[in-house]
Amino acid sequence: MVSGGAIQIPSRLPLLLTHEGVLLPGSTVRFSVDSPRNMHLVRERLLKGTSLKSTIIGVIPNTRDPEHDTDDLPTLHKIGTAGIAVQVVGSNWPKPHYTLLITGLCRFSVSSLLKERPFVLAEVKQLDQLERYTTPQRDATATDDGELGELSEKFYQAAVQLLGMLDMSVPVVAKFRRLLDSLPRETLPDVVASMIRTSNKEKLQVLDALSLEERFKKALPMLTRQMEGLKLLQKTRKTSPDNEKRVLVRKGTVFPGRQFNLDEEDEDDDGDDTAALERKVHGANMPEAALKICLKELKRLKKMPQSMPEYALTRNYLDLMVELPWSKSTKDCLDIRAARTLLDNDHYAMNKLKRRVLEYLAVRQLKTSLKGPILCFVGPPGVGKTSVGRSIARTLGREFHRIALGGVCDQSDIRGHRRTYVGSMPGRIINGLKTVGVNNPVFLLDEVDKLGKSLQGDPAAALLEVLDPEQNHGFTDHYLNVAFDLSQVLFIATANTTATIPPALLDRMEVLEVPGYTQEEKVEIAHRHLIPNQLEQHGLTPQQLHIPQSTTPDIISRYTREAGVRSLERKIGAICRAVAVKVAEGHTLTKTETLTPENSKQHGDKAAPPELPIVIDHIALKDILGPPVFEMEVSERLTLPGVALGLAWTPLGGEIMFVEASRMEGEGQLTLTGQLGDVMKESAHLAISWLRANAKTYQLTNMVGGSDPLEGTDIHLHFPAGAVTKDGPSAGVTIVTCLASLFSGRLVRSDVAMTGEITLRGLVLPVGGIKDKVLAAHRAGVKRVILPKRNEKDLEELPANVRANLDFITATNLDEVLNASFDGGFPGVSSTRAHPQLTSKL
Ligand code: ADP
Repeated sequence: MVSGGAIQIPSRLPLLLTHEGVLLPGSTVRFSVDSPRNMHLVRERLLKGTSLKSTIIGVIPNTRDPEHDTDDLPTLHKIGTAGIAVQVVGSNWPKPHYTLLITGLCRFSVSSLLKERPFVLAEVKQLDQLERYTTPQRDATATDDGELGELSEKFYQAAVQLLGMLDMSVPVVAKFRRLLDSLPRETLPDVVASMIRTSNKEKLQVLDALSLEERFKKALPMLTRQMEGLKLLQKTRKTSPDNEKRVLVRKGTVFPGRQFNLDEEDEDDDGDDTAALERKVHGANMPEAALKICLKELKRLKKMPQSMPEYALTRNYLDLMVELPWSKSTKDCLDIRAARTLLDNDHYAMNKLKRRVLEYLAVRQLKTSLKGPILCFVGPPGVGKTSVGRSIARTLGREFHRIALGGVCDQSDIRGHRRTYVGSMPGRIINGLKTVGVNNPVFLLDEVDKLGKSLQGDPAAALLEVLDPEQNHGFTDHYLNVAFDLSQVLFIATANTTATIPPALLDRMEVLEVPGYTQEEKVEIAHRHLIPNQLEQHGLTPQQLHIPQSTTPDIISRYTREAGVRSLERKIGAICRAVAVKVAEGHTLTKTETLTPENSKQHGDKAAPPELPIVIDHIALKDILGPPVFEMEVSERLTLPGVALGLAWTPLGGEIMFVEASRMEGEGQLTLTGQLGDVMKESAHLAISWLRANAKTYQLTNMVGGSDPLEGTDIHLHFPAGAVTKDGPSAGVTIVTCLASLFSGRLVRSDVAMTGEITLRGLVLPVGGIKDKVLAAHRAGVKRVILPKRNEKDLEELPANVRANLDFITATNLDEVLNASFDGGFPGVSSTRAHPQLTSKL
């Protein structure tokens, strides 16, 4: 465009009113625009236009406050610069705006305004001659000698002199030097004024200087001032040559017709940057040792060329160091009474846990020290472990950060990589501190039971160091390579089971069990917390959606099967989404349709659809969530001999577990299927041996009526439901009952579930997880639970309503189990038979 001979800019130009900079011919400036007029101009002219001409706009400096240019047009500056928009970038963040890159072409003056909206369009008069740009150098000034010639020569010499003071080895400076000779002299004031440090006011003076002579006169003092400043700087800062370069070159200056951008000159920022970094290092309030390292690294950084890969590494390191909260902390504001209210408001039930947490906080307050065991909440998913952790942080007025440890098997995840590695980074602890920005947050170490182990070292060992109050004031992340004091951090851990927590780690913790919830508790939690929360998250109100107390038990028992409330929360979320769509549709319906007479009759005159609130009953539930996922299968399944219901414990909570057996002709083989562990297989063999030994007593028979149940018979035992590996001895009584049913042809009572380990001699030994197991039985609608006598004490932990609803049979031997499992007892059991005593210590 600029190199193509005599060029006229269009006589009608859309005008961009700018308040942040002055565009001079020959320079390229970035403008950010967000006022309505400018936005219209960009959208309707620059983004829609297809010709080169449509990218030419007039840029008029607007000295008025940008906030007030929405309504009437301000008085415009009389002279502007026509320019080509070479780049348009739009963004919506933080508010809608465009960023334009505009290269100035020539001056113009406004003759008349044609329209003011949606953007300003004006009749303009071109003031500079564009074709002169292509005339060979010197020609233009050679003709008019005299004062102008002198001025321009003086200006040129000054520019050369300025360049001479700069480091020629910097490519940008060298390029500028070449351009200085090839550019027509009369363009120099504009180009130089836009490059050197000048204020907007000064640039306006240059813009307004219409005669070339005046322009030289205005720009020359600026150039001289720049040189003097530079000289002064060189005197005072002999040591750091980098600092000189930044004086000259302003970013974003482009020479007309050439793809040359002084943006390449980055070092000019560097001086500023390292200086700023140095200031930050001193201001970060870090301990002596860290400060020393930082200053050393800073010194190295200053000597490094930016292109070196290590530069970025060192830079990142220093950025992290200054960002870390070495001595920034929040003030603890612990008020035990307020804490109690907060915990109660946030969580229903879990009284034992809440009490223990309050005790813990109270002790902390009295002792004002963090030493002591780390709380570890152990329980199935979705029972509120994370949520209690969050509440603790809130009661203390501390920041909260969750560190997920599930699957972490490399100790550098905790302790960071040494900086010699490419892509090395700090560990999760240091990263967490950077995120929260204070040195006394509450860190929730989530899923400590799922830590892995690998060749890269044991993460548990690293974690141990983090948690040890004797060591953690000097925790050294490999990346930082200097100690960071973690003693103010409050750690809380969570796990699904204590079984897989590394013992050394477990030793440091105080385990607080968080059991699953009963159906009644879940209903309360749903109505007090989950439903209100979900309504809010989906922008709904109770006036729009109502889930009655009678519906929730159905959601719980027919659409979820869990110890916690996580999928319950999800189901409620699904209902909210479905209703949100209906409500949104309802609104448009009423808006568009109330106008017609029939509609207004139908809907009345109300703006809201008449069917609000939408009530979720059983039909709505089925419509939204689909057919029930879980039916009450217990009674259905127990309609054949050879099925019994056991209770299992998994890290996800208690579960009911069916045991099925069938027999066929064969050679006395036992087949076991259904993801079993070794202990479970042993239980099966034990059960069979005991039944064979007692076959006569119980009148058990094989398929042809013989007295050895295994003779000529193969037996298949299966443990269906779920792909979870089942192990543990607690299925013993269930296997015995199941096989007794098979061999006797009698049905096990359909409302009985059981758990207990067996011995070869028919004793029933205690097992773990009673509470979770009983809750699972209760969830599944079981009426009677058989458990080992020695587990009786565990029943005290159960909620009263569960205890009231269930019939507990405690057994010391298998006779009692069988008697309780079959309607009318189990025949053949003679009450005179002497049972081995539990104290016999097998
Ligand atoms: P966890 O960490 O045990 O897996 P979360 O803390 O993530 O479980 O809890 C899942 C959801 O259930 C959260 O929205 C939480 O607020 C809610 N929740 C769990 N237990 C309760 C409770 N007793 N009272 C209120 N809300 C609860």
